[in-house]
Amino acid sequence: MAIFEKAPAKINLSLDVLSKRSDGYHNIEMIMTTIDLADRIILNELAEDRIEISLESRYVPSDERNLAYQAASLFKQTYGIHKGVHITIEKNIPVSAGLAGGSADAAAVLKGLNRLWSMQISEEELLKLGAALGTDVPFCICGQTAIVKGRGEIVEPLPSPPPCWVVLAKPDIGVSSRTIFKQIVMRDIVHPQTAKVIKALKENNFEKLCHSLGNALEPLTIKQHPEVQQIKHVLKQAGAAAALMSGSGPTVYGLVEHERKARKIYNGMRGFCEEVYYVRLLG
Ligand code: ATP
Repeated sequence: MAIFEKAPAKINLSLDVLSKRSDGYHNIEMIMTTIDLADRIILNELAEDRIEISLESRYVPSDERNLAYQAASLFKQTYGIHKGVHITIEKNIPVSAGLAGGSADAAAVLKGLNRLWSMQISEEELLKLGAALGTDVPFCICGQTAIVKGRGEIVEPLPSPPPCWVVLAKPDIGVSSRTIFKQIVMRDIVHPQTAKVIKALKENNFEKLCHSLGNALEPLTIKQHPEVQQIKHVLKQAGAAAALMSGSGPTVYGLVEHERKARKIYNGMRGFCEEVYYVRLLG
């Protein structure tokens, strides 16, 4: 029996860096929401005790470096399972884009294996496993809209944003979040207005939400890749109600209330940027 899991991408409505930790990582605080741009994960049990991955991507390895492989390996090890699994990844989320594509795949594998092997492991326990794989994995297990704290292991649900559309534009570069985090100087951080984002979500107020979006990593990525600033500018000029870089970038998204306008902005952006999408916000 095959198990199918949808692995949606996320965008950051806010991203703050609160402090540097003694272990070298940073304490972060970010509000994330899911969008209707997703990889598809298919799990099939294998007769032999091994993990296989098949995917068609020039940019993502299909061996133990793949986060989906690591998720399966951690799951098997933690629960002492001596069965094998074949993981098919249909990749639709752009890679190294700030949209948590790898984390979404890993989260989908953890949830899918729980079903494939009828384990009935609680979401709370899956979150702990996810945290060991990467900062964005616990959020991807819960999905919807949430504030994420610590090193990603604390996920508190928030109301979804009002229904709207998201136009995504990714310049033809990949950004490694590790490189961006290395450049952080705490005293230079411009903190986003996280409390305002939460208030706007609780009030279900689209306009307020658009005015409170913020990402502390944006200036660092823009310094290295000025095209990110340009894309923000063009998206706003084209009529997006707000535009912000997601994660450590380089993808910039614009929020748009109505589909017709989103499609129009999408068509305009296609002449300016190579990879452009317009999708529904899932929240
Ligand atoms: P990060 O913030 O970790 O950079 P991202 O959302 O910007 O995340 P991803 O698409 O997750 O970017 O890819 C980051 C790196 O992870 C890439 O170098 C990629 O090769 C590697 N990777 C490993 N497994 C996967 C996977 N299943 N899907 C995408 N990338 C993967």
